[in-house]
Amino acid sequence: AAESFTGTMSESTWSRDGGRVRLFANINLLSEVPLAIRSRAEGIGLYRSEFPFLIRSAFPTETEQYQVYRRLFAAMPDRVVTIRTLDAGGEKVLSHVDSAGESNPELGLRSIRFSLLHRDVFEAQIRAILRAAEGSVCPRIMFPMISSLDEFREARSIVYDCMTALEKEGISYHSAPQIGMMVELPAALELIEDFAEEADFFSIGTNDLVQYMLAVDRSNPRVAHYYQPWHPSVLRALARIGKAGRAAGVDVSVCGEMAHEPALIPFLLGVGIRTLSLDPQFMPAVQQQIQTMDLREAEEHARELLGMSSIASVASYIGVEKRA
Ligand code: PEP
Ligand code: MG
Repeated sequence: AAESFTGTMSESTWSRDGGRVRLFANINLLSEVPLAIRSRAEGIGLYRSEFPFLIRSAFPTETEQYQVYRRLFAAMPDRVVTIRTLDAGGEKVLSHVDSAGESNPELGLRSIRFSLLHRDVFEAQIRAILRAAEGSVCPRIMFPMISSLDEFREARSIVYDCMTALEKEGISYHSAPQIGMMVELPAALELIEDFAEEADFFSIGTNDLVQYMLAVDRSNPRVAHYYQPWHPSVLRALARIGKAGRAAGVDVSVCGEMAHEPALIPFLLGVGIRTLSLDPQFMPAVQQQIQTMDLREAEEHARELLGMSSIASVASYIGVEKRA
């Protein structure tokens, strides 16, 4: 039963000099929740909602989704639980989302674009989340692949419309979820200060941010050596997002693979990011690393890196192979 997932209250991770860092889990399936709890995740920072339904031949109904999300919230009723809305397309191929005919699916009709076009599908998901979140302390709804304020506002207004509809129907729901976004497109970077006025939280999807900033298909082995999360442009982008979030009081997390890279964690903390969301298997190592870190030193380390403009200088400073 879902209730058996509920473990003891998780603890924060503290740096050597007493800085608090929140470590959340990335989850694709409900079956991963017990591991997240055992590994002392403080909550769920990214639930990839397309995964339970990948092998379906049709979209799950609102009720089917409700049942899955309900178990997720019930497993962690007192913690942050972040459900990302459908992120179909690109490397996440859903058999019922047809991307045939797109010569460039990573730039195609995917993710939030798909949801906004297929409002019925999107509304069913939002209603299921709102209903399932009822009674949860900190539910969060996160939109993937946001490229403009307009898109964020449109998606958020659909959430409000769903609340109005549920209210009218007399169905109980959570009326105040946090509504935030993935920061994973270069277009979002230039507007990040404006987004910070509107979004309740940011989660940086470095897997896609790197892909789109560097124009490197994340699944193409022929260009894998160009996929360098430590590229100076990426590092400066992360610093800017961290700064914008702090200035506006918006929680900024990193939920891409970068969040568990030992060579990059000092930089992330050094630019003021205090929440990391990672696959639970990496949790013990990341906890250990943070416990031995000094945040003042991390800030100095980040300042050094932000002054560098070549991949080679960053790579040698943080001790990764230059690759290219
Ligand atoms: C990312 O893009 O970094 C991310 C966490 O999302 P996904 O890997 O699911 O695209
Ligand atoms: Mg992504």
